[in-house]
Amino acid sequence: MTSAVEFTLPAVNVEEKLFQNRYRIDAGRPHIKVRNADTCTACELKPCTVCCPAGCWRVDTDGGIELVVDGCLECGTCRLVCDEANVDWNYPRGGFGILFKFG
Ligand code: SF4
Ligand code: SF4
Repeated sequence: MTSAVEFTLPAVNVEEKLFQNRYRIDAGRPHIKVRNADTCTACELKPCTVCCPAGCWRVDTDGGIELVVDGCLECGTCRLVCDEANVDWNYPRGGFGILFKFG
């Protein structure tokens, strides 16, 4: 007879982990953009605002979207969850964007 092995998952603080990354901002040249702001305003569920691990997408006071790509992890989730294909997604230019090697 086998017995279940008990183990405890280590506690992970996401904020702490994200803080160990570094980010080089390409000022004035965001690598991700919304194609049509009105489409976002009309988007009922706005999945991008809950799926982005870096919290880059927020609902603004007018019911539209505020997107700040500083700190973007380049995971591509926002592009995949947008059923409207309203995310113009590119990698940052060379030398800009996320640096993971500090974590
Ligand atoms: S899921 Fe797409 S259309 Fe909806 S708010 Fe996000 S980017 Fe805009
Ligand atoms: S690529 Fe990932 S981290 Fe960057 S904005 Fe989209 S969901 Fe957020």
